[in-house]
Amino acid sequence: MQDHERISAKMAKFRPSLTLALKRLVEARREKGLPVHDFGLGETKGSLDDGIRAAGERAWREEVTMYGDPAGLPELRREVLRWLGLEGKYGIENVLITNGAKQSLFNAFLAVCNPSDAVLFDAAPWVSYQPLAVAAYGFPVMVLPAAGDRDHLKIRPEDLRRNLRMRPQARLFLLNNPVNPTAQLYDAGEVEALLRICVEHRVFFVLDRLYWRLVFDGNSFPEPRVDEETRPWLIQVDGMSKNFRRTGGIRIGWCVAPDDVARAMTNLQSHYTSGPSSPAQKAALAGIARPYDPGLRDEMQAKRDLLRGAARDVPLVKVWPTPASFYSFWDVRAALGRRAPDGRVLATADDLAAFLVEAGGVVTASGSGFMQEGFLRLSFATPDETIVEGMAAARRAMESLR
Ligand code: PMP
Repeated sequence: MQDHERISAKMAKFRPSLTLALKRLVEARREKGLPVHDFGLGETKGSLDDGIRAAGERAWREEVTMYGDPAGLPELRREVLRWLGLEGKYGIENVLITNGAKQSLFNAFLAVCNPSDAVLFDAAPWVSYQPLAVAAYGFPVMVLPAAGDRDHLKIRPEDLRRNLRMRPQARLFLLNNPVNPTAQLYDAGEVEALLRICVEHRVFFVLDRLYWRLVFDGNSFPEPRVDEETRPWLIQVDGMSKNFRRTGGIRIGWCVAPDDVARAMTNLQSHYTSGPSSPAQKAALAGIARPYDPGLRDEMQAKRDLLRGAARDVPLVKVWPTPASFYSFWDVRAALGRRAPDGRVLATADDLAAFLVEAGGVVTASGSGFMQEGFLRLSFATPDETIVEGMAAARRAMESLR
């Protein structure tokens, strides 16, 4: 066996997740005492909610540590239905608790895709969609809007229809709403139109709604229609990671799926994880089992406004509207091709992202990680000082370009 054959051909092509690599970059700079304004990883800060912490502690103390149901604790699955407003529409046999939303997505791909079935994503897919689809033997396809980025990369019904016509082997269409990285929000009419097309084509509509509580300006999350017609084709994915503070590491997510798909996912999970950690599930239960505190949403909206104001002075940047999530998406194409003070040409968003780190300690995620060249994503789930100081540092760095 040759050295390069020791790892499977599929896995050898995998690269580490861009956003987790950013976390390492930030730590390395901090260790060296270099300035860091961290807009990289999308992770809420602040203190863990007392109720969540106490429930986790109690679970350990009371030794809730034996094997549980591989689909997840029944009480948590029941609560998930209430949290999503789906009681009466599904039973707990339709809910699967997973190690983060990531695993729900992976389960869904594995459950419904035969080798080389096409998995359709929207036009700026979150970093792990493609690797997860490939690992599940799917064939990832990005649906590009015919209107280019005029609608901020939102997919229109005709875009989905065109792709489904070209790809008869399509098994599922994955919509992330609100969208990471672009922060766009599909409204109820747009969601319904895309869902209806999937139902017509007998293609699964997977809705990744991980940021659904973080919708700003008094708008609410557009719930997909759940009825006899849509139910067999609708799979919803959600979890603890974004709508609470400091909960990404609890690693609890969930999905709600039609009977046959939920059964297949549970069978699969019974063989490879036996379900997520029980104390973590108990902690998650405490998080969702009471009325949602909109404090985090209001805080994120205020941070969005702060960043938008501070970014006004940053040259060569167009900031996209931010109706939801905690990401600011920047069109930086006007900066590409410019020279840094040392004479280096910044040809790509990766070059610009690296320059911003070196020149000002401003850490962003390059659009290339989301398959969109010419953009940067900034997470504003970060302290206000970081936003103010980071925008000043970004302005100085961008002003130095020639
Ligand atoms: N979907 C989207 C759109 C995300 O942004 C993330 C996490 N950044 C995930 C899924 C995965 O979530 P989790 O950390 O709960 O696995």
